[in-house]
Amino acid sequence: MNPLGLHAMVVTIGGDATATRHAAEVAARTGYDLLELPILDPASLDTTAVRAAATDLGLQLATSLGLTRDTDVSSQDLTAVRAGTQRLHQAVEVTAAAGADWLCGVLASALGRYPGPPTRQGWDNAVAVLREITDHAADVGINLGLEVVNRYESNLVTTIGTGLDFLDAVGSDHLWLHLDAYHALIEEDSLDGAVRQAGDRLGYVHVGQNDRGDLASGTVDLVGLLAALVDIGYQGPITFEAFSRATADPDLANILAIWRSPWTDGEALAADAIAFLRAHLPDRTDA
Ligand code: MN
Repeated sequence: MNPLGLHAMVVTIGGDATATRHAAEVAARTGYDLLELPILDPASLDTTAVRAAATDLGLQLATSLGLTRDTDVSSQDLTAVRAGTQRLHQAVEVTAAAGADWLCGVLASALGRYPGPPTRQGWDNAVAVLREITDHAADVGINLGLEVVNRYESNLVTTIGTGLDFLDAVGSDHLWLHLDAYHALIEEDSLDGAVRQAGDRLGYVHVGQNDRGDLASGTVDLVGLLAALVDIGYQGPITFEAFSRATADPDLANILAIWRSPWTDGEALAADAIAFLRAHLPDRTDA
């Protein structure tokens, strides 16, 4: 049965112990199995508090991040590659210390719009770093989800096909594809095709609508996506991701071009989202 996850920024801006506890309480109260915590600054995560909140509330945990220009492991600038390597090692440590099973997101490049396509050297740099980071992940017993994002948020891995090439180049059982419906809508021929192409290399899924709001309305065929996930026997986490200026970290909101606040009540949105997910996942309809 797929763990159903809630992205913490649906309900809270902050990443401190109080905000994290609040997000965990909302996730548990609305029936989620998993809480995903953004760790753009991994060192700032209070791993003891997060672990305690998850244990108290019976939640699984995931963490996620996007690298920056200064920590871009797909750069040709070795200073940035080294800083990114250090950032990812730190993220792996923090993820394991918090008791999370997954570290996801834009792990192989900066999160943001690039001025040009990736370079061969940049690809090779990212592959080499991810080999080192997946070894670390294996040592501490976590998995990494390489999020496939749209062209405005990376230039490196923007399709499932390129993601498969990247996974092959890295060659680790601890690196999985992380498919996000919002990004796939822009880049893939079909969501169904993207799920089938990812197949058993798919480890983590974000469900989000084109307007990054309520799952039940919008142009992304999430019913079709969930049907495809069921059809291929996908058993991994399915995490609801949505962004409103009202509940997103301002810096992340700027990178993701979240200019408006179409909703302010994250808990209500989270409750609606899990009802939608349950309604379209056969083994969850009675949950
Ligand atoms: Mn996502």
